Amino acid sequence: MKFTIIPVTSFEQNCTLMWCEQTLRAAVVDPGGDLERIRSVVEEHGLVLEKILLTHGHIDHAGGAGELARSAGLPIEGPHIGDKFWIDDLAAQCAMFGFPPAEGFEPGRWLAQGDQVRVGGEVLEVRHCPGHTPGHVIYYHAGERVAVVGDVLFKGSIGRTDLPGGDHAALLASIRAQLWTLGDEVEFIPGHGPLSTIGHERATNPFLT
Ligand SMILES: [Zn+2]
Repeated sequence: MKFTIIPVTSFEQNCTLMWCEQTLRAAVVDPGGDLERIRSVVEEHGLVLEKILLTHGHIDHAGGAGELARSAGLPIEGPHIGDKFWIDDLAAQCAMFGFPPAEGFEPGRWLAQGDQVRVGGEVLEVRHCPGHTPGHVIYYHAGERVAVVGDVLFKGSIGRTDLPGGDHAALLASIRAQLWTLGDEVEFIPGHGPLSTIGHERATNPFLT
């Protein structure tokens, strides 16, 4: 499985394109916006987009999902149903954060702890990581030892918990139970900023040491 990051929106969100090298079928994780940029990277690699995955319902991650799903006829999987209130409220989020109007949607599949998601011939493991939002999930590919973790954990920081549904203690518990257990050598792609490894954060992240 291959991964590439496409920074999108004024929040420089790390939209991640991932694809199966055998089938060249791809999934886009968190298309917050800038759909033309996403489409051109898909084309550049000669891929067929087969689904949209969401880590959570915040506008910079989910804002482009409805339009992309409708225009390309793609299913949306994730996040966990705990984020339904964020997705139902996309219009208000646009106003609150100064985003262009977003098209509403309802995911075709809500995800839960232990679910699996298929991309071409590859399988991703789903882990439910509440705290930044109640329905936040992460996607882990065991073969490549790479996780796409949205706004749960960053290099040197963690997700904010001051927005509706945020819970600082739950976030720390999620990181310890669901991320640390992936293994120190696992690399992760956060929702913003540079990549890091689980081991590096476990040893140095000031919010968790
Ligand atoms: Zn967020």
